Formats: sequence, structure tokens, C-alpha cells
Amino acid sequence: MTTPEFKIADALRVVALRLENALEEGRRSTRIDANDLLETLLAVADQLDPPLANYLAPTEACPNCGERNADRLIWQDDDETVRCAGCGTTYRPGE
Ligand SMILES: [Zn+2]
Repeated sequence: MTTPEFKIADALRVVALRLENALEEGRRSTRIDANDLLETLLAVADQLDPPLANYLAPTEACPNCGERNADRLIWQDDDETVRCAGCGTTYRPGE
């Protein structure tokens, strides 16, 4: 099933689940502001139309949370390790 309706519903479910997890873990407040809404809408858009060019190979993903978005994986000053903005793990990509 990959009708456009299914794809949109699925993207909303994925983002809602992530938000639910963030609430349960206390990483997010139950109060939202315009920035939270903006971030949520962009997350839905990314889910529907992933910016693939910005994604690393699965072998270079964060070993802890699986993050592959290059914008969320920050190279450290040693030029050998990367820190994941999602979970804070520091690792050497490809190892
Ligand atoms: Zn991570």
C-alpha cells in the first residue's frame, strides 16, 4: 500500500510516535509554541520527502540511535569522530 493518503498518514504516525516518545522521556514539554509546531511540520515534510542527498550511508549512521541525517551528525575537531545531535553519542563513522 503506497497510495499518497497512506504515505501521508504513515508520515504523521511516525512523527506523532517520535513526539510521544520525546514527551514520555521528558525531552519535550506538553506545552507547544510556534517553534515546536514548525519543527513538527518540517519533520512531517522530511518524512514524506526525505532529503536523501543529506543522508549518510547506513554503515556511517549513529550506532546508538541510527541517525543518518548529515545535518544532525557533527564532525568534531579531531576530524575523526562525529557527535550525534540526537542522542549525544560520539563515534567514528564506518567503524
Ligand atoms: Zn544518535
